[in-house]
Amino acid sequence: MKNLLILVVEDEKRIVRLVETNLKAQGYATLCAGNGIEAVKKAATNNPDLIILDILLPGELDGYDVCRRIRTFSKVPIIMLTAKTQETDKVEGFNAGADDYLTKPFSVQELLARIQAVLRRTGEANTKPSSVNFGELELDYTQACLFIAGQKVELTATEYRLLYEMAQRPNQVLSHEDLLSRVWGSDYRDERDYLRAYIWHLRKKIETNPSEPQYIVSRPGLGYMLVSPAHQ
Ligand code: CA
Repeated sequence: MKNLLILVVEDEKRIVRLVETNLKAQGYATLCAGNGIEAVKKAATNNPDLIILDILLPGELDGYDVCRRIRTFSKVPIIMLTAKTQETDKVEGFNAGADDYLTKPFSVQELLARIQAVLRRTGEANTKPSSVNFGELELDYTQACLFIAGQKVELTATEYRLLYEMAQRPNQVLSHEDLLSRVWGSDYRDERDYLRAYIWHLRKKIETNPSEPQYIVSRPGLGYMLVSPAHQ
């Protein structure tokens, strides 16, 4: 079996060494990039299975820029690293297309757990059969992608996973905790900001008017549900 390849994008050599040593010990193959341009190039040519991406990088591209560029050609899972802790940074990371977020300093165990969780949910997202329709939306499980009125809509792996979980139980209210546990893992059950950022991003992609959603309906204080417009 081929070892999964992880691209580590970070300019601090101490962190690169720590991360690489531990990833290799877990059986992953690794590849490094010390700046944004190199990171985009390696993501395109080496086709990694996952990317660990620091936000603060030397040169003209920061981690957000790198993430946005990679998202123009790849759905590879991306975990962003940063020393910053403000909520706006987290939201900007998700808006740039990151799948998860880890704040420095982090423990190696935490990083490995996040990698496994991200790979698990994106891997599952790629193996489910058939498809399901909601109004003009068609969620294609085979290709793990979304079509609206026959037009393909680009979703990140985590956006797809979130929509997929809601599609499994349509027209039912799913609690914030339930969705967070299913998509991000039980450690994230209270991270409502994650969920809110992703729901907003999904609505921008699938709703005619994201402020008056027809498909992803909020039940304040309870959760969200995916409905066919006919059910409203
Ligand atoms: Ca850095």
